[in-house]
Amino acid sequence: MAKIKMTTPIVEMDGDEMTRILWKMIKENLLEPFIELNTEYYDLGLEHRNETNDQVTVDAANATKKYKVAVKCATITPNAARMTEYDLKEMWKSPNGTIRAILDGTVFRAPIVVKGIEPCVKNWKKPITIARHAYGDVYKGSEMKIPGAGKVELVYTAEDGTQTKELVHNFTGEGIVQGMHNVSQSIASFARSCFNYALDTKQDLWFATKDTISKKYDHTFKDIFQEIYDAEYDEKFKAAGIVYFYTLIDDAVARVMKSEGGYIWACKNYDGDVMSDMVSSAFGSLAMMTSVLVSPDGYYEYEAAHGTVQRHYYKHLKGEETSTNSVATIFAWTGALRKRGELDGNSELMEFADRLEKATIDTIESGKMTKDLALITTIENPTVLNSEEFIKAIGERL
Ligand code: NAP
Ligand code: MG
Repeated sequence: MAKIKMTTPIVEMDGDEMTRILWKMIKENLLEPFIELNTEYYDLGLEHRNETNDQVTVDAANATKKYKVAVKCATITPNAARMTEYDLKEMWKSPNGTIRAILDGTVFRAPIVVKGIEPCVKNWKKPITIARHAYGDVYKGSEMKIPGAGKVELVYTAEDGTQTKELVHNFTGEGIVQGMHNVSQSIASFARSCFNYALDTKQDLWFATKDTISKKYDHTFKDIFQEIYDAEYDEKFKAAGIVYFYTLIDDAVARVMKSEGGYIWACKNYDGDVMSDMVSSAFGSLAMMTSVLVSPDGYYEYEAAHGTVQRHYYKHLKGEETSTNSVATIFAWTGALRKRGELDGNSELMEFADRLEKATIDTIESGKMTKDLALITTIENPTVLNSEEFIKAIGERL
C-alpha cells in the first residue's frame, strides 16, 4: 500500500508523562505505517519548556497561525510540587492558557460515543458538545466583603471624565459584593467560533443565558449572538440544514436532559465550567472526551480533554504494566488529520481519519478495551488490554 501524502504540515505539540508515551505509540502503530506524516514538531514537554523559557509554547502557537491545524498532547501545568520535581526556573503558565491567549479561541469538548459505554442519561444517543466562553464574568471579577452599613455603587468614568453611577445596594449591615465584566469583542469572537464550528460539524447550535433577569449583562450576550447570526450566518445555516436556537438557561438545562444529543451547547463561562463536567461524567469517562480550540480566524488545535495521567506514568516508570486509555488522544490526531485533509482538498487523508476512528470504536465494541472502560462497560466479559496492546489491537483492525 502506498502511504498517504500530506502537502501541508500539521503543528505537532508533544507533551508530558503517560500521554507522551501514548503519543509515540500512536504515531508508530497507527499513523506512520499509513501516512507520510508531515508535521512541524514542537516539544512542549516540561523540560523543554523550561530550557526555552517557555518560548517553545509561543512558537507552537504562532506556527498554528501559519498552518491553521495543530494537534497537542496533554502537558503538565506546573505547581509547587512540579517546581521541585523538574527543578524549574519559573512556575511556567499553563500551555493551554498561553496558546488560547495567542489564538483567541473557544474550546469545544465532545464525548466519543461507543456502544457498551452507555451515558447515565439513557435518552442521550449522540454526543453533546459544550462550547465554553473562556473570558471574563466571575473568573475576572473583583469582590469585597462589606463590613457594615454603607452604600455600594457601580461607577463608570469615561475617558472625558463624565461619570455614570448605578446603585448596587444600600447595606444596613454586613454583606458581600461582586463586580464583573465582559467585553463585546470577546463575546463576538465566541459567537463566531460557535457558528463556524456548528457549520463545520453540521450540528445545531444552542445558546442560553438568563436575559430575563439580567436585562443588560446577559441580554448583551443574547443580542450579540443574534446580530451576528442574522448578518453573517442565517443563510449558511439554512443551506446546511442546521438551526441556531436561543433559550433561557434553565429551559436549556431541562431540554438538554430530555434530548437525544447531537448538538453544540454554547455556554457562558460559569455555565460552561459547570455543565462540561456534568456532561463529561454523564457520558462515562474523561478518557473518552475530545477537545478542540477553534479560533474566530479559522485556526484549529485538537487535543484530549484529560491530563497527563501522572499516576499511571509513575507505575510505568517503576516498570509496572499500565492500561491507559488512548482513545481521546487518537481522536485528537484524527480531528487534526481530517481538518488538514479538508483544508488541502486531500480526501485520502480525510478517509483515513474516518477509518482510524471506526477501527478504534469497533475495537472497543468487540470487547477489547482498557481497564477504565472495562470497569463501566455493559459488554459482558470484556478483554482488558494494556496501553500498548490496545493500540496494537486498533492497528490490526485498521
Ligand atoms: P488526569 O491526567 O486527567 O488524570 C486523573 C485521573 O483520571 C487519572 O489518575 C486516571 O484515574 C483518570 N484518567 C484520566 N485520563 C485517563 C486515561 N486516558 N486513561 C485512563 N485513566 C485516565 O489529571 P491529573 O492527574 O489531575 O493531572 C495530571 C497532569 O495533567 C497535571 O500536571 C495537570 O496539570 C495536567 N493536565 C493537563 C491538561 C491538558 O494538557 N489539557 C488537562 C488537565 C490536566 P486512575 O488513576 O483512577 O486510573
Ligand atoms: Mg469545571
